Amino acid sequence: MAAYEYETHEYDVVVVGAGGSGLRATLGMAEQGLRTACVTKVFPTRSHTVAAQGGIAASLSNMGPDHWQWHLYDTIKGSDWLGDTDAMEYLARHAPKAVYELEHYGVPFSRTEEGKIYQRPFGGHTTEFGEGPPVQRTCAAADRTGHAILHTLYGQSLKNNAEFYIEYFAIDLIMSEDGVCQGVLCWKLDDGTMHVFSAKMTVLATGGYGRAYFSATSAHTCTGDGGGMAARAGMALQDMEFVQFHPTGIYGSGCLITEGARGEGGYLTNSEGERFMERYAPHYKDLASRDVVSRCMTMEIREGRGVGPDKDHIFLHLDHLPPETLAERLPGISESARIFAGVDLTKEPIPVLPTVHYNMGGIPTNYWAEVLNPSDDEPDRIQPGLMAVGEAGCASVHGANRLGSNSLIDLVVFGRAAAIRAGEVVDPNEATPEPNKASIDAALDRFDKVRYADGSLPTADLRLEMQRAMQADAAVFRTDKTLGEGVKKMDAVAAKLDDIKVTDRSLIWNSDLMETLELENLMPNALATIHGAEARKESRGAHAHEDYPDRDDVNWRKHSLARIDGNQVTLDYRPVHVDPLTAQEDGGIDVAKIAPKARVY
Ligand SMILES: Cc1cc2nc3c(=O)[nH]c(=O)nc-3n(C[C@H](O)[C@H](O)[C@H](O)COP(=O)(O)OP(=O)(O)OC[C@H]3O[C@@H](n4cnc5c(N)ncnc54)[C@H](O)[C@@H]3O)c2cc1C
Repeated sequence: MAAYEYETHEYDVVVVGAGGSGLRATLGMAEQGLRTACVTKVFPTRSHTVAAQGGIAASLSNMGPDHWQWHLYDTIKGSDWLGDTDAMEYLARHAPKAVYELEHYGVPFSRTEEGKIYQRPFGGHTTEFGEGPPVQRTCAAADRTGHAILHTLYGQSLKNNAEFYIEYFAIDLIMSEDGVCQGVLCWKLDDGTMHVFSAKMTVLATGGYGRAYFSATSAHTCTGDGGGMAARAGMALQDMEFVQFHPTGIYGSGCLITEGARGEGGYLTNSEGERFMERYAPHYKDLASRDVVSRCMTMEIREGRGVGPDKDHIFLHLDHLPPETLAERLPGISESARIFAGVDLTKEPIPVLPTVHYNMGGIPTNYWAEVLNPSDDEPDRIQPGLMAVGEAGCASVHGANRLGSNSLIDLVVFGRAAAIRAGEVVDPNEATPEPNKASIDAALDRFDKVRYADGSLPTADLRLEMQRAMQADAAVFRTDKTLGEGVKKMDAVAAKLDDIKVTDRSLIWNSDLMETLELENLMPNALATIHGAEARKESRGAHAHEDYPDRDDVNWRKHSLARIDGNQVTLDYRPVHVDPLTAQEDGGIDVAKIAPKARVY
């Protein structure tokens, strides 16, 4: 057995991750006087949330009429009727309050003439239950909304005495013999020491796993560590086959051009100079939801109408907009276009391509962020001691497809909900149970095995193989044939983990070892994605299946659950929550309005 000394830290709550969701949870816990630790592998304000440009959705009605029920309807339709209706209602209802709280914490939102929070249109956000014109619902701090939120929440968390453990890498969850989560084992990256965070509640806020793919808008740190830890602890991952491609990643680098660009009037053209979205989505055109726009762009390219020498991308035009609007509303992307595409967007179009952007799937939770560990007779069984929030979790409010600006609001609404719930279930006066030594030893053993891995395959090579397989076979276009091949390829790739080679054995700033641990986390996420996609014989949201072009509510309106044991994937399903939280007579939505129908924009 591996011999490592470790220091034990006792808290009421340990939050793993300091992105928008982790910080909002941390702040809410600390505000209530719970002793709260926030552990993060990168400095808090370098979390991927910092890159969020476009904004955060809430029905504030600052720019025209809006209603939380319209937001709820749009979210349900956006999810292609796979989201849990109770959780989606919780999101839409609490969004305005959560945004005003952010404002009061100090987020420097852009303002209207009257000094209200500025809101812009975003794809899929409409009025009158999808019957009316697009709504301006997305609250923005120029095109740096995530940056503004992250910095504000970090400052507020410090003010409330949350304790930060920065550049600590969480390795594995610590589980008691009877299956209660008791905290997390961490490796301190700058001095190589080991740390046990023992807590009554552990919150996974580790973000998405975009880096399972070759081209992604997300940071290199988005490696699905929470999903990896949960899977190894025997938990299921939910709806992993639904991966969102953003229509406008810059061709080549994958760097994001926010949907806010189309919100401000930008539009797409093909090689014939045609604004082709008018043909596919006559009503909302370039502001149809993301899966629809990504799919249409891919069709144009496949049919030979792509732009550039290889006819393999599309143009995004902003050159018709007044330069003052671009400078005021979209300063960040003017810079990105210049640096990553060499384009002056006041004069030329930007070359763009659909790029992996968001993971709808994740660790299943209820709308209090409590992790669900479903059993056959109890699909909503709560996993004691564990919560998940943000992109790592799946509440599920995005279902088969997330609307733009609905993630940032998900982070703060459910980060906040997790804190409220922890205030109810965590007793600060109770002693923290002794963490299970056998579970700590098992985690240390795995760490040690990776540290001394002496196979023949460098981590970077195997990671590239995985990313290529996922990009080729689990992307926008899916057929039985490509998915079948993808499963075979990914099973083979995962098996090669046993032959991995780590060259640096040290414990201090060992990026080779850290990237290998990250690859071990990416792998179960990738396996669940491709296996879940292969099994789902329908088209829904981001999962567009050429051989089954229609949505099949009779057989497939259900969440998929993937459990991964070694490289073995077992699939199961749990029912979608179709009922809203509030009955119509108590002010809730009319259920006739949210009955499944074809999703057209
Ligand atoms: C370029 C870009 C633009 C976007 N724009 C928008 C937008 O305008 N509106 C919108 O609604 N959504 C947007 N999104 C989506 C949204 O920003 C993300 O889904 C969201 O920020 C994820 O936040 P998070 O809190 O879940 O995780 P992240 O912000 O990704 O943070 C993850 C945290 O977990 C920590 N962590 C991970 N693994 C470990 C480990 N093993 N040990 C310790 N710590 C760990 C990291 O250090 C980090 O602090 C955008 C996404 C991208 C990529």
